[in-house]
Amino acid sequence: MQSIKKECTLCDLAVEISGFKLETKEGLQHFCCEGCLSIYRLLNPHKLLPPLNEKKK
Ligand SMILES: [Zn+2]
Repeated sequence: MQSIKKECTLCDLAVEISGFKLETKEGLQHFCCEGCLSIYRLLNPHKLLPPLNEKKK
């Protein structure tokens, strides 16, 4: 088995826990903690994918 080391998209620290990830227009991003994830979302709203269930009636 090969383990691929991932780095936090925001702070470049090694990602120990694979649970903080975010699907963006540029692909799946990984983060070291929930803080980095939420900061990334705040800083890059244009990269976020629109919610699937957001439809106009
Ligand atoms: Zn981080």
